[in-house]
Amino acid sequence: MTRAAIVTGGASGIGAAIARHLAADGALVAIFDLDGTAAEAAATAIEEAGGKAIGLPVDVTARAAIDAGVEQVRSRLGRPSILVNSAGATIAGPFLDIAAETWDRALAVNLTGTFDCCQAVLPDMIEERWGRIVNISSSSVHSGSRGLAAYVAAKSGVVGLTKVLALEFAPYGITVNTIPPGFIDTPMLRKTLEQGVFDLDQQIANTPVGRIGRPEDVAATCAFLVNEEAGYITGQIIGVNGGRNT
Ligand code: NAP
Repeated sequence: MTRAAIVTGGASGIGAAIARHLAADGALVAIFDLDGTAAEAAATAIEEAGGKAIGLPVDVTARAAIDAGVEQVRSRLGRPSILVNSAGATIAGPFLDIAAETWDRALAVNLTGTFDCCQAVLPDMIEERWGRIVNISSSSVHSGSRGLAAYVAAKSGVVGLTKVLALEFAPYGITVNTIPPGFIDTPMLRKTLEQGVFDLDQQIANTPVGRIGRPEDVAATCAFLVNEEAGYITGQIIGVNGGRNT
């Protein structure tokens, strides 16, 4: 059966790799991203590779925009039964300097955006009696990370939210899991390196497999979790981190 999938943050990095992988597996993919032009470009690249995709400008901090985006997916691709929440933003700074607005912004993008997207698509999944949600959190929820208090707090909330949704929606054939990636080579990571939050060589030295992660490493795991065969896996935290956290 051909399924409609929504990938938030799907114009860049991990989300873009997930969108490509799901489309290659036959899903009809809707890319939601802040940057509508980039979302459309990512969708066009998928179509040129033989897949089916649309790109929509959706800010996950705006519930009305999410609802409008989901409505477009229903009419253009069909009822969404796969949701991957990959939109996120690292907001760095020493704890004592975090302003209330900065804290609120970190929670809005990384946690409330995930909440709103889940709430917007779950009624379709319930009706379908089938659904797959994968929330991209962060390996920093295992380890903590200096200078990223608001981000780590928000991503920790994503892990808790995932566990509760898994319990509440399992009876409807819906699974909800989280992937906390660790150190994946994306524009976001490059920006964090430029800000001096991490040192690349030191991070690689601390990674047992001895390399930085690739967006495709996360995409392959996500593609497995949204498969039919993964129906007995829910409420789980599936790390993709080169062995840095277990
Ligand atoms: P990325 O390349 O920056 O991709 C994130 C995408 O999300 C960007 O296209 C970004 O748009 C978009 N976005 C940001 N705010 C949004 C909003 N309010 N509404 C809709 N889209 C929004 O970063 P990435 O590394 O692939 O990150 C993907 C996810 O993995 C994030 O949730 C991140 O926290 C998580 N993660 C990444 C790593 C890593 O090592 N890379 C590690 C742990 C967790 P703009 O570029 O226009 O802002």
